[in-house]
Amino acid sequence: SGPALLGPAEVRELAERLGVSPTKKLGQNFVIDPNTVRKIVRLAGVTAGDHVIEIGPGLGSLTLGITEAGAEVTAVEIDHRLAAELPATVRAMQPAAAERFRVIRSDALELTADMIAELPTPPELLVANLPYNVSVPILMELLELIPELRGGLVMVQAEVGYRIAAQPGSKEYGAPSAKAAWYGPWRIAGTVSRRIFWPVPGVDSVLVGYQRLDAPRGTVTERDTTFELINAAFAQRRKMLRQSLQPVLGPLDAVVRVLESAGIDPTLRAEQLSVEDFLAITRAR
Ligand code: SAM
Repeated sequence: SGPALLGPAEVRELAERLGVSPTKKLGQNFVIDPNTVRKIVRLAGVTAGDHVIEIGPGLGSLTLGITEAGAEVTAVEIDHRLAAELPATVRAMQPAAAERFRVIRSDALELTADMIAELPTPPELLVANLPYNVSVPILMELLELIPELRGGLVMVQAEVGYRIAAQPGSKEYGAPSAKAAWYGPWRIAGTVSRRIFWPVPGVDSVLVGYQRLDAPRGTVTERDTTFELINAAFAQRRKMLRQSLQPVLGPLDAVVRVLESAGIDPTLRAEQLSVEDFLAITRAR
């Protein structure tokens, strides 16, 4: 570890000085291990000159790893005490990186296209240690909001990470897996011990990452319909598609007609379909 990153003593000292006692409600578990930070930055493929968006920078543990790699960082933090202190932390630890860092104080779920458009360039990588209770909604929001992202690597609760990266037919496969797969193939990039956090959380974490596909799978309208089909199918995941898709596709005979012209067996269930299958249904509609 080098002096440019936050270790256990720095994290605790900073938190104490700011009068921050980490809250469960905001999923505040801060990384206190520079080796883990550097591993995340390396696995994310951050290189000098990249523009990285980081959600939930907290005290800056991961932020400083990203700036250390020479990247520009736009950080989005909901907690105003933390957001207010970050520029000073970056300036104190890595003076040369101060001008490559900015923070938006906002709920990540309330980011708008206008806020992204105001940035000098669109972010190209998402790197974050996401707050656990809202990690999936935040991820979906960002993937949708920033089509320029060429990829991302996020730390999430292990169970959630395995769900995001799950393949059709597996027991973890669900609506979040099918939707995440729209943007690219996801992989589990690594596991993280709970001991590298302060406070130590009650769950293990994993790193999940994706790389954007060379060309989008379909248009935004096709994506929206595909997501509607995914939601409907998984809302009644034990039912056959010919039944579960009726809320979107209409009465039984209409559903069967669409499924057959998409080449999908109407007696299958949601968990057996890939995102490509759902898109085929969208296109057959
Ligand atoms: N990145 C830091 C680290 O690795 O030490 C902190 C990670 S901590 C797991 C999650 C962070 O997300 C906290 O700083 C918390 O305040 C912030 N946060 C929670 N909900 C948020 C939201 N809806 N939008 C933006 N930030 C949020």
